[in-house]
Amino acid sequence: MTVADFEGVDDLVLPFSVEPLDVRGRVVRLGAAVDTILARHGYPDAVARLIGEAAALTVLLGTSLKFEGRFQLQTKSDGPVDMVVVDFDAPDRLRACARFDAERLSALAGASVKSGDLLGHGHLAMTIEAGPELSRYQGVVPLEGQPLEEAAHQYFRQSEQIPTRVRLAVAQQFEAGRSAYRAGGMLVQFLPSSPERMRQADLPPGDAPQGHVGAEHAEDDAWVEARALVDTVEDHELVDPNVSSERLLYRLFHERGVRVFEGQPVHEECRCSHARIMTMMTRFSADDRAHMVEGGRIRITCEFCSRAYDLDPAEVEAEIATSAER
Ligand SMILES: [Zn+2]
Repeated sequence: MTVADFEGVDDLVLPFSVEPLDVRGRVVRLGAAVDTILARHGYPDAVARLIGEAAALTVLLGTSLKFEGRFQLQTKSDGPVDMVVVDFDAPDRLRACARFDAERLSALAGASVKSGDLLGHGHLAMTIEAGPELSRYQGVVPLEGQPLEEAAHQYFRQSEQIPTRVRLAVAQQFEAGRSAYRAGGMLVQFLPSSPERMRQADLPPGDAPQGHVGAEHAEDDAWVEARALVDTVEDHELVDPNVSSERLLYRLFHERGVRVFEGQPVHEECRCSHARIMTMMTRFSADDRAHMVEGGRIRITCEFCSRAYDLDPAEVEAEIATSAER
């Protein structure tokens, strides 16, 4: 496979490395994968953009899982969007949903609503289930009105302690008579062979007492250079279908030499199924299940993919009884 095979391809994660800078990373571009999710729910634009950013971030992180595994990004906060959930099932499945208050959302109004304003205060949890027994690791970052990118930086600083830079962007594009959402992102990490080089600067000097001269130790020059380059990435470069991920990487790192690896495709697919719905039903008491019956049926709609499950209560009870006997 050659680099040209991926020119302008959507729904693809492109891993790369810049060896002279000891940097590795991934670039993601989401087209149909994210637009399918957003169009299905008909989310207001501000909510759609927030979910798009969260989806790009989730894919950047989730595609680091090698074999089976799951990555979940979840926010719980007091803003107009009080919950966002994005699931990534390795190697390639993405789903997402959000809960929002339409009245509070319209009160925010304005074209330049930031992700931090939508989320407000609360927390962002990143959960990884990986390995043969799907052992669970969770990192939690407080949300205090900061943008999602900034919350991601805090996550890496606290949980993984790897110097990391993340860029996220979402745009709407008009094609074939309708507008479609696109999302893009880039994650860059400093992974030198000697761990001493990974030391990060202390808090910004602004937080230091007067007379304190900057950080106690300087950051590694290679990381300073890589980070400065990533910070030049503009939003449109991450979402423009005419600027491929390869071209963007070349623009940033050609002087140092960038290696691009085989792309990993991703797509929108929910993990809900009849079997999973039945597992969920067993967690309710028989009495609770009886209360779910309306007009002789139990109707459940998946919050992620809007798929409707129309169940016969007698069949549900029979299935639960059979599985309990096993
Ligand atoms: Zn579903």
